[in-house]
Amino acid sequence: MFVYRFVSDSILLRVKIMSGFTEQSKTTASNGAAPEETIMKRLLSVARGAHWNRMLMASLLSLTFLLTACGGNQPKPTAATTKATTEVTDASGAEGSDTTAPDATAGTVADVDRNLYEMDLTLDPENKSIGGTVTVTIVNDSGFDWPDLCFRDYPSLFLIDPNTGEESDGKISEISSLTDVATGEVLAIERSEKDATIITVPLSEPFKAGETRAYSFTFTSYIPTIGDRFGNSEGVFNLSNFYPVLAVYEEDGWVAHPYFAYGECFYSVTADYKVTLAAPEDMTVISSGEETKGDGGTWTIEADLVRDIAIVAGSNFTLKTGEVGGVAVNCYYLTEDATWGDIALAAATASITSFESSFGEYPYPEVDVVQTYLTAGGMEYPSLIMITTYLGTSPDPDGSLSVVIAHELAHQWFYGMVGNDQYGEAWLDESLASYAEFVYMSTYLEPSVVAERAQQVEDSMKTEGMPLTKEDFHLNAPYNEFEGDFDYIYSAYYCGKVFIYRLWQQMGAESFDAMIQEYVATYTHEVATTQDFVDMVQKHAPDNAEVDALLDLYLDAKF
Ligand SMILES: [Zn+2]
Repeated sequence: MFVYRFVSDSILLRVKIMSGFTEQSKTTASNGAAPEETIMKRLLSVARGAHWNRMLMASLLSLTFLLTACGGNQPKPTAATTKATTEVTDASGAEGSDTTAPDATAGTVADVDRNLYEMDLTLDPENKSIGGTVTVTIVNDSGFDWPDLCFRDYPSLFLIDPNTGEESDGKISEISSLTDVATGEVLAIERSEKDATIITVPLSEPFKAGETRAYSFTFTSYIPTIGDRFGNSEGVFNLSNFYPVLAVYEEDGWVAHPYFAYGECFYSVTADYKVTLAAPEDMTVISSGEETKGDGGTWTIEADLVRDIAIVAGSNFTLKTGEVGGVAVNCYYLTEDATWGDIALAAATASITSFESSFGEYPYPEVDVVQTYLTAGGMEYPSLIMITTYLGTSPDPDGSLSVVIAHELAHQWFYGMVGNDQYGEAWLDESLASYAEFVYMSTYLEPSVVAERAQQVEDSMKTEGMPLTKEDFHLNAPYNEFEGDFDYIYSAYYCGKVFIYRLWQQMGAESFDAMIQEYVATYTHEVATTQDFVDMVQKHAPDNAEVDALLDLYLDAKF
């Protein structure tokens, strides 16, 4: 998740939003970070977008800590899950009308163990678009027969800037020539009228469980001029969720959660990617997986066993590289000042070392830590994290930049490796990534100081009147069941962070670490649920009344 840390992670800083800044935030501001006015604007913007009452608004303004998502007033979606096939309507326009199929792999279905996306793409900075041809080979291992296909096309949401609610220069994507590779049949494409991201493809023959099929199509996505996880700003292109990706099919059909700005609704299964990307010669392309520059600015991207891929491309990156435990750490930054790269490399190295020790081995050959223009603090993708320019360059390992990098890197384990339904059970990645900040902090703080911080987070929840009882909330509620974004963020980040820390205390380090390592090993490249987590805890802490009480306080699950 892209936690926007307006000032710092630390509630110890006792940041008084209305009365000024701490040294930390002053440092941040003096380094070109968001000025106070901008921060307040964002906070109020968040407040307006949420369903808060006056008391909560007042509470926000007197917060003595802040760790929250980026500003914006995206209307809150009203449904947790949409069964995509029930609300699609016939598309109009170009989609599905082109009968010329991409011919690169026509007639041949690759023999694969998991979904494979083969993409031949061009990034056009002038036109602010990315697109090309895709062949996706799909293994239906869902256990269900599919009457149709459902892809998600998130770029089509960006006609409106999700952070401000204002019109942007984004456009509806063009998707055409969707063809069954084996038969050559060109299939119609239907875009939902209620949610432009939902693309349904009716099938003449059901796609049976256990079957493998391949489909090819062409697409063009338009990149809005906004500093968002999908957008372009100052010549840097953040390309996440930029291509039509197959949704996940579960018991009730295709899972098609609505998009929201303050967290994630993304849900996809692990796949392999083989991509070529033509970009202007002077651009650096930074991607999930391993990227290699060829002649004339054409890049080759290979990413295996990833949930999705993201790319950042720009002309002014400087690279600082390092290595930790055989993993190449590439820190890309936008200034001439090498300080950012030094801080990022130190934080990434300490984070990966501590997370490998606590959670298990990082499975990819490299990780990219990329400074970019982002309204949020950071955003995680497989083997790539985006970090905003707003975080300053405090060399303190406890500074905002370092702690945000730790948080986003923790998502490599919780979201990247162990997948989850991020809309339905956000805590499974956000709470664990937030707890991982304590793991990172333990590399430079005494255990007693880390414990104090956990206590302070818990105390702050009482001060702010946040629900702490099971009657009021449970951590594993879907996004739409929270009262507003404030409650959602508070729950997924703070309540969850304290919950996991208390669990660690109650189980003891040895037992907890064994539990979390088995959890990661069991569900790496798969999807875990709250019940899977609870079962793993109870396996490692059998007949432990205190542990059961903690689980019962925070979670709605079977014990
Ligand atoms: Zn996060």
